[in-house]
Amino acid sequence: GCPGRLLELKGNIRVLCRLRPGTPSSLVSLEPGPGGTVTTCYRGHQRRFRLDWVFPPHASQEEVFRELESAVLSCLGGYSVCIFTYGQTGTGKTYSMEGPPEDPGIAPRALQSLFREMGTGGQHRVTLSMVEIYNEAVRDLLAPGPPQRLAVRQGPAGQGGIQVAGLTHWDVPNLESLHQMLSLGRSNRATAATAMNQRSSRSHALVTLTLRTASPSRGPGTAGTLHLVDLAGSERAWKAGAAGSSQEDRDGAQRLREARTINRSLLALGGVMAALRARRPHVPFRDSQLTRLLQPALGPGATAVLLLQVGGTACGEGRDLHARHRPPGAA
Ligand code: ADP
Ligand code: MG
Repeated sequence: GCPGRLLELKGNIRVLCRLRPGTPSSLVSLEPGPGGTVTTCYRGHQRRFRLDWVFPPHASQEEVFRELESAVLSCLGGYSVCIFTYGQTGTGKTYSMEGPPEDPGIAPRALQSLFREMGTGGQHRVTLSMVEIYNEAVRDLLAPGPPQRLAVRQGPAGQGGIQVAGLTHWDVPNLESLHQMLSLGRSNRATAATAMNQRSSRSHALVTLTLRTASPSRGPGTAGTLHLVDLAGSERAWKAGAAGSSQEDRDGAQRLREARTINRSLLALGGVMAALRARRPHVPFRDSQLTRLLQPALGPGATAVLLLQVGGTACGEGRDLHARHRPPGAA
């Protein structure tokens, strides 16, 4: 495909789909391309979804990014851009967003592309913040010292927006330091994940880059923002409830609680996307921490791209697409 196809998406929400290689075609089949479809088969029942864009099964990281690049670069013009990866655990959300070092995903490619575009003219001031949302608690992944839960508040009246009390914002002088900060944030997330039994698959990770034009003659300038969001696994609560030893019961109860709060944020995101797509006057941003945090970024003129990940070989492929939990934006 040619670069720039998503340029017309400014001020819009689009849902793209990527299938994890190796998924049996008896479970998920695709009609790739614009307006493509995904057909899932679960327990003999078929369901078909139409999306804005469906990548062919062996789409490379580069091909995926090519569809996103113009949207990413629009934040240099003061626009707000959110890119989400959505799907069950194991479907490739983190692969698409981060990718392995030898085959980088959306985030590293986006940042490289932005810095290349900005050049060395020093016209932009770039700041970075990185948070994790786990059980509706927001945590700064870049703050020095022990992790602390941050309060999310409505900003001062008249200014709109949201304030995350104590959230650190870091100046990013160049791409190299950006990568260092991101790997610090990722390792902070990974440490928590090991300590808390694969927590990372149950938390949302948000990387936020703010770009301000630093032109003295033109004042502070408009800020563009890029949010890169690796969402928690979208598996449903029933998966968590298996009975067993008392330890397992305790784990099960914990997981059930997590599943509910994960679903709260994911369902809230779905509700927000649906309201924005339908241009409804009331958008339920306040229903979860995820949507509260993203409220300033999902306003009028913002671009949101949701990359729906499906497939894999392990757990009940297609289930997620099949039942109540319809992915945000899929028709
Ligand atoms: P998630 O973040 O959704 O839980 P991961 O990104 O961790 O899933 O992917 C699960 C596994 O599948 C990982 O081993 C990952 O390397 C692999 N994988 C996912 N998508 C692809 C792909 N497009 N090509 C090759 N390997 C993939
Ligand atoms: Mg992951």
